Amino acid sequence: MIMLHSTNLNAPQVDFKEAILTGQAPDRGLYMLNEIPRLDDAEMFSFSDLELTQIAYKVLSRIIGDLIPKEQLESIINSALNFEIPIHYVSNHDYMMYIDQGPTCSFKDVGARMLARLMEYFLEVENKNVIIITATSGDTGGAVAQAFYEMNRIQVVVLYPKNEVSNLQRKQMTTLGKNVTAIGINGKFDDCQKFAKNAFADKDLDLNLTSANSINFGRLLPQTLYYFLAYSRVAEDLGEKVIFSVPSGNFGNLLGGLIAFRMGLPVKKFIAAVNENDEFPRYVNSGTYQKVEPSKNCLSSAMNVGHPSNLARLIEMYGGQIDEIGIVHKDPDLEKIRDDIYTISITDELTKQTIKGFYESYSKIIEPHGAVGWAGLQAYRTDTPKDKNVKSISIETADPAKFPEAIVSLINITPKLPQCLEIINQKEEFPNPVEINTYEDFKKYLQSNY
Ligand SMILES: *Cc1c(COP(=O)(O)O)cnc(C)c1O
Repeated sequence: MIMLHSTNLNAPQVDFKEAILTGQAPDRGLYMLNEIPRLDDAEMFSFSDLELTQIAYKVLSRIIGDLIPKEQLESIINSALNFEIPIHYVSNHDYMMYIDQGPTCSFKDVGARMLARLMEYFLEVENKNVIIITATSGDTGGAVAQAFYEMNRIQVVVLYPKNEVSNLQRKQMTTLGKNVTAIGINGKFDDCQKFAKNAFADKDLDLNLTSANSINFGRLLPQTLYYFLAYSRVAEDLGEKVIFSVPSGNFGNLLGGLIAFRMGLPVKKFIAAVNENDEFPRYVNSGTYQKVEPSKNCLSSAMNVGHPSNLARLIEMYGGQIDEIGIVHKDPDLEKIRDDIYTISITDELTKQTIKGFYESYSKIIEPHGAVGWAGLQAYRTDTPKDKNVKSISIETADPAKFPEAIVSLINITPKLPQCLEIINQKEEFPNPVEINTYEDFKKYLQSNY
């Protein structure tokens, strides 16, 4: 059985079950695998004959081992990954992978839906119940709420800033009911996050609280799967290498790719494309890490991250160590990082031009996050003519209908609401359950309702 350790190296090692149920390690580090198993080229190449769910079983069972029996793991996978991840040819050697067809039309559905089911399974084994508290600026809350809806043994409380989320974002959280309670607080996202953190640390609360944000290894691991899928769909020769372009914020998506790479996936280069929050490209180029504080508000709002939490895992993979507040304790092999990862910051201006240009060239609408990835790929193509015949896969991480204002202003077309959002849009909302202004209000609410 593969064990996991904390990236801060100051907490006991745990198995996969413990890592899922605790989320963050007690020393505030992130859990990471002690060793990464390898698949061989022939096996990965043969994935071209398999469905996503079959690939998922082959990959995940290598890591989860016999902690979950085959039949149960298959059923978790089949119920979590019940939507398509299409990979479309765009032009030359470039492909686009659309991870936008889950229930909230965001790539976060992959990790959140797998985590929910893994957590439910392990809670059943342990005969325990938990309450998940999630603070959201809009998108994560919806993905988590939808993913954990109707899970046994799990209650969900989502805190969102009442006046700062879009109608659709709010409805993804407030139309569910049952085990999901969404609370619009009178404050900002930072207040939501503060209330959640206070609750986790509050010794008066005798509740089994946990978190479902992207630091949980159970959300990260499933994000390896679509890299194997995409590779198997575009590679034509055994061992052929490909390029992945990944629009990045907290770097969970990229880490999925890097773990797949360590498992042996033949990758020529990862492109880590960020918006104007450019701490990672600056670090890779200069060797000096400095967060962007406060983070900048860019069009690709889900990537407005000034200090990506998954850097702790990335830097460890390259022999270094960085803690949760952004202090580098040991330098990683930056040369090796540059070999594997091309990283670039894309301005909002270029993001907009890219959405326009993509539509003009290919008559297809992409949204701001996917556009950052596509723009990153174009920069790489220009910089690296020697790789011009290497195939690439860019990732579109959300459906354009989630960003109607931006799209209309650029190409004057209102993106069509996909079915997943249409259903949510028509549902009745539950009223806000309580007025919350301060942490004390939230604490009282938790004490009297759970
Ligand atoms: C969260 C998110 C991202 C960024 O992914 P990370 O794993 O945080 O790097 C990109 N696009 C969309 C639409 C997202 O919701």
